Amino acid sequence: MNEEHVATRLEVEGVVQGVGFRPFVYQLAKNLGLKGEVANTAGGVTIELEGPAGAISSFCRSLTEKSPPLADITSVAVHPGLQQGFKDFSIVLSRTDTKKSILISPDVSICDDCLRELFDPSDRRYRYPFINCTNCGPRYTIIDDIPYDRTNTAMKHFVMCARCQAEYDDPDNRRFHAQPNACPVCGPGLSLHNRNRQPVCDPDPIRKTAELIERGCILAIKGLGGFHLAADAENPQAVAKLRKRKRREEKPFAIMSLYQDRIRKYAWMDEEENKLLASSQRPIVLLRKKTPNPLCDEISPRNKYFGVMLPYTPLHYLLLDATRFTLALVMTSGNLSEEPIAIDNDEAFDRLGDIADYFLIHNRRIYLRSDDSIVRRSSGATRFLRRSRGYIPKPVFLKQDVPPVLACGAELKNTVCLTRRNRAFLSQHIGDLENLATYEFLEMTVEHMKRILDIDPEKVAFDLHPDYLSTQYARKLTGIEKIPVQHHHAHIVSCMAENRIDGPVIGLSFDGTGYGSDGHIWGGEILITETHRFERIAHLSYIPMPGGAAAVKEPWRMGVSYLYDTFGIGFFDLDLPLVKDADHEKIRVIREMIDRKINSPLTSSLGRLFDGVAAILGLRKKVHYEGQAAMELEMAADETTRDVYSYEWRSGNGYILLTAPIIQGVSSDVQKGVPVSVISRKFHNTVIRLFSDLCGVIRKDTGIDRTVLSGGVFQNTIILTELSLALEKKGFAVYTHKIVPTNDGGICLGQALVAASQGTGVS
Ligand code: ZN
Ligand code: ZN
Ligand code: FE
Repeated sequence: MNEEHVATRLEVEGVVQGVGFRPFVYQLAKNLGLKGEVANTAGGVTIELEGPAGAISSFCRSLTEKSPPLADITSVAVHPGLQQGFKDFSIVLSRTDTKKSILISPDVSICDDCLRELFDPSDRRYRYPFINCTNCGPRYTIIDDIPYDRTNTAMKHFVMCARCQAEYDDPDNRRFHAQPNACPVCGPGLSLHNRNRQPVCDPDPIRKTAELIERGCILAIKGLGGFHLAADAENPQAVAKLRKRKRREEKPFAIMSLYQDRIRKYAWMDEEENKLLASSQRPIVLLRKKTPNPLCDEISPRNKYFGVMLPYTPLHYLLLDATRFTLALVMTSGNLSEEPIAIDNDEAFDRLGDIADYFLIHNRRIYLRSDDSIVRRSSGATRFLRRSRGYIPKPVFLKQDVPPVLACGAELKNTVCLTRRNRAFLSQHIGDLENLATYEFLEMTVEHMKRILDIDPEKVAFDLHPDYLSTQYARKLTGIEKIPVQHHHAHIVSCMAENRIDGPVIGLSFDGTGYGSDGHIWGGEILITETHRFERIAHLSYIPMPGGAAAVKEPWRMGVSYLYDTFGIGFFDLDLPLVKDADHEKIRVIREMIDRKINSPLTSSLGRLFDGVAAILGLRKKVHYEGQAAMELEMAADETTRDVYSYEWRSGNGYILLTAPIIQGVSSDVQKGVPVSVISRKFHNTVIRLFSDLCGVIRKDTGIDRTVLSGGVFQNTIILTELSLALEKKGFAVYTHKIVPTNDGGICLGQALVAASQGTGVS
């Protein structure tokens, strides 16, 4: 029974480099008695096999079924090979060719094996803060080019010692070809400095750092994707000091705890949230606070949630282990207000010198900064508020191939997107494009991604808003087709893309802001959407935003605008805190701006309606961060109220949803002394009922029964959950975001698809 010997070549694509894939292939081939070789190529991994046909078939089966945990195979092409008479099976050095369609692995939190070694006194890497292996460690943030070889990473400056090299060369070792492999003898090291850059000499810089934190100091700590600012979360003075120095008045700080047991002392956590926290991506997970609470209020004032993460680098474990009695550390991104997070040591001393008392730094470079990702469980699924470290650069898989496009995102929470074939690669969180530093980060990210993904875009997509820095960036590019995309069209298409559906759909885009095709500011929209086009079928009635951008920062202006619109000049007589306690001169100025149409752009934004209602309820006059008033209105809502305010729409050229009846209802309840929690909930219920009813009418008009929900307002759990339910009850299919954020952090995906569809007939 001499089975026929054949030669086969396999080309494997996906996340297959730097994840222990070749050693796995090697073992598999050996066990099956196959000869041949395996090599990394710029396209993925190529395997040459020679041996009995039966053994080759079982090899192919096991290849996908038993591949290592971090590998993610997207395709295996099987070709007949040439008989080369291999004597053995071996792993050969990387081959470079021109096609770079390899998928790079995201950064991965420390694995259990490395964690065990980290705390094992007999291990040669005992307490070594840069321990890693093929199954864990830095990836995306240290890669400068592909193929993923040490010479193309930040590890190129460290020459491996003999013992590390032996591990690296041994296919049976967990560190075989682990590019960041290092040990205390040959790898990167830590040092502690004061804010004047002078070294603080201590035999154990980590223990010293822990001690400084326990004494109430603020530490800048260099991590995986950038610097963190750390402080003791149980020390109100330290946290208040950090807020003041970082000029971040109210926006919540993220915290990190060593174990789930400690998290349970201050936050509620269900099984799904526990899984998310412990996943290898280690995102920040929003967890409901317990009351009373051992942590200080300053961490997330007027918020029902904490943003919590578990440690994800060996350094984090060592540090949290050293601060043994602390329930949690504040670990907020190392930046001033909304600047990009610092990554270089010099840059950190320059930019964080006024914030941190001490600096714990290391000498492994970070090529690309990547902020912590933020997720929450909401309406039965995981929702991204920020998709960054741990998830980037894993692509979103599209329904069909598209031409190469660069999409530049919007203004706030900016991310960019590059497409190749059926993959859309979103960047890490770039930030709010309101300063030069963030703009430069955008430029750098685009160049870096073009290089490591080998994408040369034919088209560039950008927001219709002429003043966004992302728009200006796109406009400056040469030799590329330029395609402006309406903001809310992009939101809806983004959600369609990740759900792999085509239009037409009824798109509900609930948002704070977005430049409309008519030059007004949109944000409470129903758009009949196809990828390549949309029709605005309904929107909230227009209302002036006195002061433009100032009305976003100061919701009391919106409150006045809605009251004036609803009651006319008579609103001055209403018994509302917004009117009674206010400076009447200021209100008069606002009224005049509206009357004379001075700097008062019109908006149909639902986000602004939330702001206005929050102001009328006396919840918030000014905000310290985007969406604060709307968020506090959501937090105030009770859970049992079922009532709604009366609502109304006008039809003509599409439907106009009137805000005046809602404002009337809210104002009347405030004057009657109805509790804020009830009014807030009634308002939420009204928005849900109004839009779901109108969707029913639109279905009658159009025959479309699929609804797509996208835009920043869907970060509001009540709106997301209850509107989905209401639409499902009416028999609609409801599509929401589960892969990219519903806020502007996901908008580049939609922009890319809209641009890709222009002129090609793809819909
Ligand atoms: Zn490991
Ligand atoms: Zn070494
Ligand atoms: Fe938006």
